[in-house]
Amino acid sequence: MKLQRIYDKALVGEAITREEAMLLWRETPLYELAAAADCLRADKVADKGVVTWQIDRNINTTNVCVSGCRFCNFHCKPHQIDRHFITPIEEYIRKTEEMFALGGDQLLLQGGMHPALGIEYYEELFQTLKSHFPTLRLNALGAPEVAHIAKVSKIATHEVLERLRNAGLSSLPGAGAEILVDRVRKIISPAKPSAEEWLRVMHEAHEMNIPTTATMMYGHIETIEERIEHLIRLRDLQAECPEGNYGFTAFIPWIFRSEGTQLEKMGYTTHFSPTEYLRLIAVARLVLNNIRNIQASWLTVGKQTAQIALHSGANDMGSIMIEENVVSSAGAHNRFDQEGICRAIREAGFTPRLRNQLYEYRD
Ligand code: SF4
Repeated sequence: MKLQRIYDKALVGEAITREEAMLLWRETPLYELAAAADCLRADKVADKGVVTWQIDRNINTTNVCVSGCRFCNFHCKPHQIDRHFITPIEEYIRKTEEMFALGGDQLLLQGGMHPALGIEYYEELFQTLKSHFPTLRLNALGAPEVAHIAKVSKIATHEVLERLRNAGLSSLPGAGAEILVDRVRKIISPAKPSAEEWLRVMHEAHEMNIPTTATMMYGHIETIEERIEHLIRLRDLQAECPEGNYGFTAFIPWIFRSEGTQLEKMGYTTHFSPTEYLRLIAVARLVLNNIRNIQASWLTVGKQTAQIALHSGANDMGSIMIEENVVSSAGAHNRFDQEGICRAIREAGFTPRLRNQLYEYRD
């Protein structure tokens, strides 16, 4: 009876409590949870028979990083001069031309927290890219990078956002959220901004009506309670988004990949469980009553699990992601092309529609 009351609450769009979410996680059979999440998904999205997908290209701005996250094989330290790179503008231009030729409309720009790259560097980069490609969408720099640029340039984070927007920023990816609980962050990414700071930068972006997404990297040292706390914090922040502004357009969870990471050396290895992932997708759909889109991250969980996730609360298959280095450097090697992603969506029983970052159809 108690569980039924929680479902009833969630199904009419009411916010369920931490305790109720925990009960769902711990005590409901997966098929029942997935069915409730699937119902809610059908209510939330405009075309319930549609699953969206995207084409964009990831380019890493630099691999030099002062953060040293223990789950990241991609970065190098400022003193490791033989491994450094800062992507030159010619490479951005060549890769952007290729991306447009493949039907994409957006670059996902992310990289390390370089100790010498401040606001002027990124302003110039964005302005140059926009002058070459006026229709290009720049989904760039997560909240930790914004906080880092503010520190390097000795300005406030809202000024960083304002100047980046004026230089061509379209939206902010949800990177760097990991788990929004400081006990966890202190162990897996001790030099990264706190949970509070991540949320504060995102709130500033929402107030300025810069669209953002929210992510979660789970499956390392966090507890189930901390996963639920993460979801509740996202929901609370979204509730503070000024009416009519984009806020978080989507929630995107992915599994931690341990291969070769410091966390692996500390004894934390990945044990990917498809059923746990599906439970997370379904609980997220039931908790996040104010975030419309939930993405099945095929890049990290593979095609079949992502297909089942579309029946467990997810309504988006993510991007074919022409280039991705951070996740793939730690053991995620799934790849789709356009045909493959559309086929996977059809096989799961839905109509594929190409979308942009704002979830508007492009086909
Ligand atoms: S995840 Fe990002 S912030 Fe962390 S070490 Fe890697 S590049 Fe740096």
